[in-house]
Amino acid sequence: MSDSKEVTLGVMGGGQLGRMFVHAAQQMGYFTAVLDADPLSPAGRVSHHHIQTAYTDPAGLAELAAVSVAITTEFENVPAQALAQLAATRPVAPSAEAVGIAQDRVREKAHFAGCGVPVAPYAVIETAEQLAQVGSDLFPGILKTARMGYDGKGQVRVKNPAELAAAWADLKGVTCVLEKMLPLQMECSVIVARGADGSCVNLPVQRNLHRDGILAVTEVFEGNMPEALVKRAVAAAKSIASGLQYVGVLCVEFFVLDPTQPEAQALGGLVVNEMAPRPHNSGHYSMDACDVSQFDLQVRTLAGLPLVQPRQHSPAIMLNLLGDIWPEHRSEKTGADPHKGAPDWAAVLALPGTHLHLYGKQDAKKGRKMGHLNITGASIDHVRATALQAAALLGIAAF
Ligand code: ATP
Ligand code: MG
Repeated sequence: MSDSKEVTLGVMGGGQLGRMFVHAAQQMGYFTAVLDADPLSPAGRVSHHHIQTAYTDPAGLAELAAVSVAITTEFENVPAQALAQLAATRPVAPSAEAVGIAQDRVREKAHFAGCGVPVAPYAVIETAEQLAQVGSDLFPGILKTARMGYDGKGQVRVKNPAELAAAWADLKGVTCVLEKMLPLQMECSVIVARGADGSCVNLPVQRNLHRDGILAVTEVFEGNMPEALVKRAVAAAKSIASGLQYVGVLCVEFFVLDPTQPEAQALGGLVVNEMAPRPHNSGHYSMDACDVSQFDLQVRTLAGLPLVQPRQHSPAIMLNLLGDIWPEHRSEKTGADPHKGAPDWAAVLALPGTHLHLYGKQDAKKGRKMGHLNITGASIDHVRATALQAAALLGIAAF
């Protein structure tokens, strides 16, 4: 039972995003409750309350609602039904409706288009007839499941109608979108936080490098993107948030098209890819490089505290730390010491301006997000030199 003096913020999901939310909430004096079935979940282990049930368990949801004054979510595939149950008795932000749109690429793209923000040319494939009608202009393309995709999972690159038909069959004929493959110059994302009163602030535009469909490096510094694109991306992200009457932290991912290619002229150079109704991996640099982090913003939106425009006080680079860089023997369970059987953190931490964040996950698997390293410094040249040194020490490819 919770103490009556506790003010508890709840979160659906116990992953690393939940863990960093919990840390931010606790820093501001809140108690926290996490709902996640895994007893070793990164957020569950550091939260005051950890409700260990499935996301759809009515008793677990009732308990979360009972202890929490307001509830948020840390992963977008949380069942919209569960958020709806919670919302019957407690403020839930973002809303089940907004999360439901973000969970479904078909609804998401319709929303973007409704906000006047260009998307990659695409076709919805739900039936064999729609499959047969796909125009040749969409090849080469990427077939993406409408639901449940992340880190490049549920995506197949296809060059022609025959490959498309085979890929759709492989995906068991679930609803998909086929997107035209666009010539990318770079990728970027914008994180906005919107309050219940409609006030909206943003973090600076993040420039992102993906490898094998997973975010690898984020670079944020003044001049990382042309000013005109920065303005357009921020305006687009804000209009996407306000169009949803969104409350909480929202990340919008964009493609910047190669200006020498005809698609760039046709689509205006900047295309929205997708949104995440929560803090995002590309916003982790804000924990060390901004005066308000994306998790502070999440706490503020949930608790109804004022939103202020974050200020970045240092150029920053974030390196994702995937399980790939752990030595093989790490899987033999090395106990609770995060520095045992792990990469040589001491060597990395000897470099000034490095900030290590580990999520407390036991097993280092390939592609698994184990932590991230933020690098800050007086100038971007300095930061990049340190980041490249750290990457070399860790066995992360140069960028
Ligand atoms: P996330 O983990 O970001 O949710 P995801 O599995 O939802 O990933 P997307 O963001 O749709 O996948 O795509 C992953 C990556 O694949 C993109 O960041 C981009 O590098 C590439 N990609 C996706 N769609 C296109 C496209 N239409 N044209 C070119 N590249 C693309
Ligand atoms: Mg993505």
